[in-house]
Amino acid sequence: MGGFSWLEEGWLRLATSVSPFTLHTLFTFLIHEVAYWGTYVPYALMDRSAYFRKWKIQEHTYGYGSGSRHAKRLPGHDRMKMWRCVGYVAANHLFLVLPLILVTHPLFEMLGTTHSLPLPTVWEFGTQIFFCLLVEDVFFYFGHRLLHTPWLYRHVHSVHHQHTAPFGAAAEFAHPLEVVFLGLSTVAGPIIVGPHLFTLWGYLFLRCWQTVDCHSGYDGPWSLNRWVPIYGGARQHDHHHKTFSGNYASIFLHMDWFFGTDWAWRQSSARQRRQGVLQTEKAAEGEQQVPVSGS
Ligand SMILES: [Zn+2]
Ligand SMILES: [Zn+2]
Repeated sequence: MGGFSWLEEGWLRLATSVSPFTLHTLFTFLIHEVAYWGTYVPYALMDRSAYFRKWKIQEHTYGYGSGSRHAKRLPGHDRMKMWRCVGYVAANHLFLVLPLILVTHPLFEMLGTTHSLPLPTVWEFGTQIFFCLLVEDVFFYFGHRLLHTPWLYRHVHSVHHQHTAPFGAAAEFAHPLEVVFLGLSTVAGPIIVGPHLFTLWGYLFLRCWQTVDCHSGYDGPWSLNRWVPIYGGARQHDHHHKTFSGNYASIFLHMDWFFGTDWAWRQSSARQRRQGVLQTEKAAEGEQQVPVSGS
């Protein structure tokens, strides 16, 4: 990280204040937790505000049990659903994600994941994370399609699909077997690359934010999918939860496009766009019919 000496100084201070084992395992878990819950907090606040409802993709979410955009407060049973989800995910993190980090630690040590200085260059940091995200997307796509075969769906993946209109915390609401199975797609890229610990944390943070974002249920002006054409985002994954099929990739659009599994979503998006244009045209016609007075 040329030009970021303050970052290297901070990293050195951190790396020398705890044991290498703690840094590589417990701190990696901490990064995962901070990224997951930290990026959920803004969405949780948005769920409680009527202002953001205009960007909600599906109205009938846990936050708006009545389906009304004007409902002021969360209905009690929906709040229960949210807390049940938070508890379930927290248990998954503590009893599955943490042990998985501990178990895979020797493997990453063997692959050369180090915490020593110098920190990776900006180029190395960026390209390795992008590569890991691409690899994750490919593995996730095939793994997710497999989870949609009848037996695996009934016994494993149906847990994640309990939320037909997802919200941020529901991103990792999944059967323990699914957490382990799809977790393999998350570690596939780092296993190939053997990144510096700093890069691994950057990748983990981005992946956690990304999965919370695409389950948030919001498609607003801040949404990355409006700015980055290859990114799927919440609009794409919401459709998967709503219809239970298609849009199997986790991050990008190209896998579903290549295998034609985004067909239903594209049809539905085109239909929505047409309806939007029709409504705008009707509104414009209505305005033209209003007589101009006083001139
Ligand atoms: Zn699914
Ligand atoms: Zn999902």
